[in-house]
Amino acid sequence: MKYCQYCANRLTFRIPDGDNRERYCCSSCGAIAYENPKNVVGTLPAYEDKLLLCKRAIEPRRGKWTLPAGFMENGESSLEGALRETKEEAGAKVIIKPNSLYTLFNLPSINQVYIFFRAELADLNFAPGVESEEVDLFSEEDIPWGEIAFPVVKTTITNYFEDRRSGHFPVRMFDVHHHAGRRVTTEIISDSSSQSIDRN
Ligand SMILES: [Zn+2]
Repeated sequence: MKYCQYCANRLTFRIPDGDNRERYCCSSCGAIAYENPKNVVGTLPAYEDKLLLCKRAIEPRRGKWTLPAGFMENGESSLEGALRETKEEAGAKVIIKPNSLYTLFNLPSINQVYIFFRAELADLNFAPGVESEEVDLFSEEDIPWGEIAFPVVKTTITNYFEDRRSGHFPVRMFDVHHHAGRRVTTEIISDSSSQSIDRN
């Protein structure tokens, strides 16, 4: 960020008065360009024992499989955003039940929060949108486990198939940390079904 979005003056990176961290500040009009985490929202569209996945047509992770998800827009709720992304990326209409909230991931190293909702396909009229090469339904044994685009997606669908066996889908929150060499670690922080959390 180089120039003020209000007056086009060059910004300086400094701690504003009364603040405690560096921000991009405009010395001309006094505006501060705050940068905050972004929310990515998506669904797990289910049909019978299968989940719908999208093959990415765009970078990053082009050609890899993912759940329909994307950045929230201003003026929409997290669930509305997830439904919009499901329609845009997979052409899919889904039914949402009252207990749809499923996983939340904090990714402080890349300033993102991911939220996934469980959903049921309303019908089989799905088709790839512009950001998807292909859209298909996969049962657990057919999931392309080695070709999943993002660790948060892999964790979410792994939990889904495990929970499906018991029929209970607790809400879980994870912290994801990115390390050198593309290594990613995922730690469970909250689980609505358990009194104590097994951190490993
Ligand atoms: Zn300015």
